[in-house]
Amino acid sequence: MGRIRRSSVDCFVCPHKCTFTEDNPIGRCMVRGLDNPGYGWCTGLVVDPIEKKPFKHFHPGAKVLSTGPNGCNLTCNNCQNWHISQRKSSSVEYLTAEKLADLAMSKSDGIAFTYTEPTIWYEYILDTAPLVRDKNGIVVMISNGYVNEKPLRDLIAVTDGWNIDLKAWSNSFYKKICGGDLDTVKNSIKIVASSNCFLELTWLLIPGLNDDPSQIKEAAQWIKTTTGVDTPLHVSRYFPSYKMNIPATPVSFVYKTVELFRKQLKNVYPGNI
Ligand code: SF4
Repeated sequence: MGRIRRSSVDCFVCPHKCTFTEDNPIGRCMVRGLDNPGYGWCTGLVVDPIEKKPFKHFHPGAKVLSTGPNGCNLTCNNCQNWHISQRKSSSVEYLTAEKLADLAMSKSDGIAFTYTEPTIWYEYILDTAPLVRDKNGIVVMISNGYVNEKPLRDLIAVTDGWNIDLKAWSNSFYKKICGGDLDTVKNSIKIVASSNCFLELTWLLIPGLNDDPSQIKEAAQWIKTTTGVDTPLHVSRYFPSYKMNIPATPVSFVYKTVELFRKQLKNVYPGNI
């Protein structure tokens, strides 16, 4: 799992750079640690239309088995899946990579690694995804993009499509609201865009936090020049959850922001409406 230093192990997956020791055997994401305790422990395991993930332009009409690890490397105040990301769910099931791949292909057209942050399931996905693809299944990742370059490239090699959250256009939002940073996410988006994987993006619109028109204009410009004018972007409606009690985004405001993005991008869609 990383560079062995006597009885400690450094995690290489995300910029948090956790070190696992006998006294602190588990990382900040509560999934990775000494002996990889989160490996194979699945949440969800329900079949969804791929449009729900959301993907608009990638295998429309396909069904995918959705699952994800019971923990996350970000701590977004508004997390919609906080009971899983903050490990409050007891509904987890252990499946070997073979069993998960068989289950996915017996019920659907492939698998979506989703809900929390799938890249922290690095080894499990490297084991499972090729088995799904061997059965002609598709493998998609719904990611926060907070991952280091090497593990990201390894995961790209075994997956087909990524939807990455672009949560805001400010480092202070990422730092204060999520415990991450924008630059890492931008780098991940850039890497996926230049790979063979299909890319879509999601912007969860929260009133007063990531709706500044000048920042949206800058973000749209960056997407246009970095990943292309055709990159599908979902502007999703926020609802209060976990530690955030700002009222839900008015529907009219979602449409207004969609129009703002559409000034520079071709495929922008409202979501969660
Ligand atoms: S993936 Fe988890 S254990 Fe590894 S550095 Fe990130 S938060 Fe820490």
